[in-house]
Amino acid sequence: MPKKHLAIRSCSLLALVLGVLTGFALFPFRSDAQLGCPPVSNNGWTKCATVYYTITGFDGAQTPQINSALSTWGQANFGNNSHVRFLNAAPPPNAENYGTLTVQTGATVSGAPAETVKDTRDGPIADATITFDLENIIPGTSPPQLVYDPGVVGYNSIFTKVTLHEAGHTMGLKDEPQGAGLCFGQSAEPHSNEWNLWAK
Ligand SMILES: [Zn+2]
Repeated sequence: MPKKHLAIRSCSLLALVLGVLTGFALFPFRSDAQLGCPPVSNNGWTKCATVYYTITGFDGAQTPQINSALSTWGQANFGNNSHVRFLNAAPPPNAENYGTLTVQTGATVSGAPAETVKDTRDGPIADATITFDLENIIPGTSPPQLVYDPGVVGYNSIFTKVTLHEAGHTMGLKDEPQGAGLCFGQSAEPHSNEWNLWAK
């Protein structure tokens, strides 16, 4: 089977797994489903890497969502040939082929509600930071409305969805140029400007 076909199938599987889990409508699903998948940068974790991650600054409603999203990526990666797995632990002294990921709260460089910064712009990465700006305001809202508003429906899944998206960048996925694609949350919004800055 040609490699190209394998790649397309992998993308489809990933879309299916993550799409179902994030509640995006995927059907009718197409066998030629490169359609809707974001461009790939190859700027991500090395194949078969173990990514040791830490989560800081989040509360008990948010943290499990982030863990869940990274677990979902780990499960999907068994089927997409990257075999990258995520562990919520510090890297052991003898670790090989590993990366480190920090998921934190704070202001974002881009001003986006969330962004991902990697240690390199091209090729394999060894470290990345995903930052959520919990104070981020939806543009144009009056009175100002928080992006991450505990009082709004969907709060119980928004950290999962955003982490799925941002972790996708560490896997080498870019943003979908237009709207929400079949590859779940790799949509152009809400931070379409991110690639202008630094591999966000
Ligand atoms: Zn993005």
